[in-house]
Amino acid sequence: MAYNIRISDIEPESIVDGRGLRYSIFTQGCPHQCEGCHNPQTHDYNGGKLVDIDDLYSEICENPLLTGVTFSGGEPFLQATPLARLARMIHDKGLNVTTYTGFYYEKLLSLGKSDYLELLEQTDTLIDGPFVLERKDLELNFRGSSNQRIIDMNKTRQYGKIVLDELNN
Ligand code: SF4
Repeated sequence: MAYNIRISDIEPESIVDGRGLRYSIFTQGCPHQCEGCHNPQTHDYNGGKLVDIDDLYSEICENPLLTGVTFSGGEPFLQATPLARLARMIHDKGLNVTTYTGFYYEKLLSLGKSDYLELLEQTDTLIDGPFVLERKDLELNFRGSSNQRIIDMNKTRQYGKIVLDELNN
């Protein structure tokens, strides 16, 4: 069975979307409407194009220098099922997964949707929260406003409470 993801764009070698050298996938479709959003072209649910996750995975496998893969957007959790499946393939290859979301982690948990939980389970680093223009800060690692957090999901699972990543400045 083919699993498709609607994407806006791909950055095959990014150093601004998480640790190391990353293959970044910008998903299409976002409900958050953050004022000052830098990716308004990702909002339309019908924009962008559909791609097969097997094709994305093949391209990821072609680059031996990658540290991991980043899901950005748009809102990746709108397409949690195919992304979780792709993330599992990426983990099997020994790469890590960073996921951005305009939702807060607590909100994703409280919604209790199985596909959301599945993508969270397959995420090593979660960068959460909407972009808030009044809290914009250009000095922050990998995020645009100071309400957003870089969450170490492996430690969060281990300790049963939110543990921020050491890069959360
Ligand atoms: S969540 Fe991201 S893509 Fe969506 S409106 Fe906010 S800043 Fe833009």
